[in-house]
Amino acid sequence: MATGGAQLHQRVCEAPGCGLQGEYRAPWARDRLTEYRWFCLEHVRDYNKKWDYFAGLGADQIEAHIRADTTWRRPVWPLGARRSGNPYAQINDPFGLADDAGLGEKPPPIQDGSEQLTSAERSALDVLELSWPLTQAEVKSRYKELVKLHHPDANGGAREAEEKLKEINAAYSTLRASENLPVE
Ligand SMILES: [Zn+2]
Repeated sequence: MATGGAQLHQRVCEAPGCGLQGEYRAPWARDRLTEYRWFCLEHVRDYNKKWDYFAGLGADQIEAHIRADTTWRRPVWPLGARRSGNPYAQINDPFGLADDAGLGEKPPPIQDGSEQLTSAERSALDVLELSWPLTQAEVKSRYKELVKLHHPDANGGAREAEEKLKEINAAYSTLRASENLPVE
């Protein structure tokens, strides 16, 4: 699109491969509202949709994300943004960043020491619905969750809940005693 060369500092849309005039500005981050990126109309709209995605995050997380995004190649989606199901399904991804990161592909099977676990430890992980690799700290926090969930008091004193809780306690003891799990 030829827009004439009258302006000395003509901005170009920052979306990759776009090349249109960057007439619309968007703030970098919530704490940098006077610093801008520039886009064409279509891409500033897309950018604003992405901005909504950042709504629940802190300014530093947003900035870190956008920094990682600067080359438009390797986005680092904040872990805290993951939700159940496909965490990326709800993200508006006009620039195909998700594809770049190989999202949606299953991770390769992990072969990093899980073979050292005893069968008791393996079944304890199953009971707590955890998977390797993990730390003692993660086991502990999962245990607390499950105790809350299966406590007989929370289940009208149900016998079933009591049995489940015993199973959870035993699994937790097994993993607490394990030397195969790092503390942190
Ligand atoms: Zn554009």
